[in-house]
Amino acid sequence: MASHIVGYPRMGPKRELKFALESFWDGKSSAEDLQKAAAELRSSIWKQMADADIKYIPSNTFSYYDQVLDTTAMLGAVPPRYGWNGGEIGFDVYFSMARGNASVPAMEMTKWFDTNYHYIVPELGPEVKFSYASHKAVTEYKEAKALGVDTVPVLVGPVSYLLLSKPAKGVEKSFSLLSLLNKILPIYQEVISELKGAGATWIQFDEPQLVMDLDSTKLKAFTDAYAELESTLSGLNVLIETYFADIPAETYKILTSLKGVTAYGFDLVRGTNTLDLVKSGFPKDKYLFAGVVDGRNIWANDLASSLKTLQELEGIVGRERYKLVVSTSCSLLHTAVDLINETKLDDEIKSWLAFAAQKVVEVNALAKALAGHKDEAFFSDNAMAQASRKSSPRVTNEAVQKAAAALKGSDHRRSTNVSARLDAQQKKLNLPILPTTTIGSFPQTVELRRVRREYKAKKISEEDYIKAIKEEIKKVVDLQEDLDIDVLVHGEPERNDMVEYFGEQLSGFAFTVNGWVQSYGSRCVKPPVIYGDVSRPKPMTVLRIALAIKDEVEDLEKAGINVIQIDEAALREGLPLRKSEQAFYLDWAVHSFRITNVGVQDTTQIHTHMCYSNFNDIIQSIIDMDTDVITIENSRSDEKLLSVFREGVKYGAGIGPGVYDIHSPRIPSTEEMAERINKMLAVLEKNILWVNPDCGLKTRKYNEVKPALKNMVEATKLIRSQLASAK
Ligand code: ZN
Repeated sequence: MASHIVGYPRMGPKRELKFALESFWDGKSSAEDLQKAAAELRSSIWKQMADADIKYIPSNTFSYYDQVLDTTAMLGAVPPRYGWNGGEIGFDVYFSMARGNASVPAMEMTKWFDTNYHYIVPELGPEVKFSYASHKAVTEYKEAKALGVDTVPVLVGPVSYLLLSKPAKGVEKSFSLLSLLNKILPIYQEVISELKGAGATWIQFDEPQLVMDLDSTKLKAFTDAYAELESTLSGLNVLIETYFADIPAETYKILTSLKGVTAYGFDLVRGTNTLDLVKSGFPKDKYLFAGVVDGRNIWANDLASSLKTLQELEGIVGRERYKLVVSTSCSLLHTAVDLINETKLDDEIKSWLAFAAQKVVEVNALAKALAGHKDEAFFSDNAMAQASRKSSPRVTNEAVQKAAAALKGSDHRRSTNVSARLDAQQKKLNLPILPTTTIGSFPQTVELRRVRREYKAKKISEEDYIKAIKEEIKKVVDLQEDLDIDVLVHGEPERNDMVEYFGEQLSGFAFTVNGWVQSYGSRCVKPPVIYGDVSRPKPMTVLRIALAIKDEVEDLEKAGINVIQIDEAALREGLPLRKSEQAFYLDWAVHSFRITNVGVQDTTQIHTHMCYSNFNDIIQSIIDMDTDVITIENSRSDEKLLSVFREGVKYGAGIGPGVYDIHSPRIPSTEEMAERINKMLAVLEKNILWVNPDCGLKTRKYNEVKPALKNMVEATKLIRSQLASAK
């Protein structure tokens, strides 16, 4: 039975890795404790796949932080500032690159294609001395083998690695990343030889860059790289795995003629055109890894439909059945771990869902069916669930559909332009120049978590719970007043998670207990499950979701609130990878956002916040959002954001590019933040600039937040006085 899994979530069904990592970082447990917890997770994942009869089981998809950072470690591509002196890279250097340390900031982190996963961006320049510095791929292969599981070791492919990198500081303009190919390939050769020596018969190279719009130089790099690796790879079966979108037709031609490659993995969920390309011609005697089980959603696969696709492909790959391998569309890293831990979802919704563990079973069921051993009962349960999800009265809401239909066709936006609104708001708010604010959340303390837990477990009354929350809000407000911050937030103590809290107030959403998906490092998010039309049955704290938010925004305004923040933290995340599909998405997303605040007065100031993104290519859409003030991640992407303003883009609304990185425990100095503000003032008018951290403070501790905000306010005051005396 030919079945394969591209990759698997690392965090564990109950986020075991997160807790092991954070305990280690806090100095509460040893490196050995962390390694032991990680080994247990790996072992249970391998055994689970072996029990599900998966033929090609991946290894080296586990990571203590990120697979791209693991590759950086493998290649010894440590930026010089981390003071690494060669040898095997240990936790200290590895986690310093990921998270920074007391004296050196972390490396840049950015979104992994169009997912919510974030990878650590390699910084490469002429001064990097590459060497084989982490044997993790080989160690993991051997570890699985010792447990009786023969795995397919997975490496980030050499060309994708370079294309995901950025040139080091100082060589941005002059340096060609692809020129490093001949420096990193010898290390890949060492790794491959060692894997062969350890008994590996297959190897998987993840080359997701192949789905992007690539020019001929980049395409040639793939041809060159695999030609160079060919002799080392001989004797191994080599799988090139792609995912997240269609393969462009030109790329498909080049890809399927790469030397030394025996198998190709395609995302056939998002890659409907790829399916046509395969049907129009696939090289004889090669393996086709058909990604028909969606690695990015939480829905049960439509098995009948997938089986039909597979049977069509069977005719193409030929009579050698085993050369058609049933697979996932991408790594299961991007979905939740195991439905078995969901105790609060009702049976109907549960029957519609499949998390990573269930997707493994689906892959095997499809492979068995393809081989003529169809599990009729499993397929028939699945067909029933598919039918019930389509017809259930819970998924449609007539009132919402009517309201959404009524919105079509008009361009909703506030009637006054942003500069007039800002004037009206300033008259009312009377803010100083360079107003300071924070993004919204303050640290979630142990005490706060305890109160919420006890309330959920009905150990304390609602009254006591509300009292505790109100006390926390008062503390947070007092702190901000002490720090002399200008626009205050309430700190969001009532929210376990930014999204979950709002979703709980809406119908058409369902919530999991353990449906966590890794976002970066030890951080996970628990996205709500949207299964139907969304409406708002009762006022919360006082398109479809946009309409519900619009009602809420107007209620908040009625309650006397002058500044309302509507987060679009993930707007860029949904951007399609291929350029041809981007304009339609952006138009839709921006329009949806504007609907949420089209009904407020000019004097009500609408803020929005956006997290990690490359904003430069969508700056026009950000302007079109027509928000009064935007706070935006900036410090950890090397202030790339500022470069668009340097290049002359005019931004007339208020803007707060973050002055410090909240994703690192490091506390930046007053001088450092003052310098950042000055850099911003060089490209942005002083009357539109806001001063704030990069993101919410929820994940930090008070002993980090207090001094950092104190320095931030101090830096702002310093600049204000400089501006005043310069007049
Ligand atoms: Zn953010």
